[in-house]
Amino acid sequence: MSNAIAVFPGTFDPITIGHVSIVRRALPLFSRLVVGMGVNTTKKTMFTEAQRIAWIKAAFANEPKVEVVAFEGLTVDLCKRVGARFILRGLRNGTDHDYERSIALMNRHLADVETVFLPAEPGHAHISSTIVRELIANKADVSALIPMDLRTALP
Ligand code: ADP
Repeated sequence: MSNAIAVFPGTFDPITIGHVSIVRRALPLFSRLVVGMGVNTTKKTMFTEAQRIAWIKAAFANEPKVEVVAFEGLTVDLCKRVGARFILRGLRNGTDHDYERSIALMNRHLADVETVFLPAEPGHAHISSTIVRELIANKADVSALIPMDLRTALP
């Protein structure tokens, strides 16, 4: 059994079934997977930090290998803190690939951390938190795109 630890960083504003699928598929590769919810003080999110964390935790409540933490700053610093030598990312399309490739090379330059990419499931390639937010703002039904019921939102 692998004893590798990975960090899955993201904004998760909100978590979608695309994120959940990437984590589930990566679990056999790692002994521990730390979902790092990025807190960016300058980036305005639709959902609060507490809300985003609560939904991520709920999505992985039955996965003992998954841990959820909020972090500020560089992903490689979170990796150092939790002892992870790997970053996990999902790729939906060529645009994701081009962007992720530079970040991955930069992270390897900054620290001894390799990025592991999994391709999005074909049925998930069109799902992004941005589009889900847009749908929510326009009162569309997003229940098939997210792992939780929006009515479980924190007050
Ligand atoms: P970020 O702001 O860092 O891009 P996101 O929360 O949007 O954070 O995404 C976190 C990770 O999840 C990224 O690697 C992204 O490519 C991946 N991801 C997002 N949506 C999907 C999806 N539908 N299928 C597979 N991976 C996805």
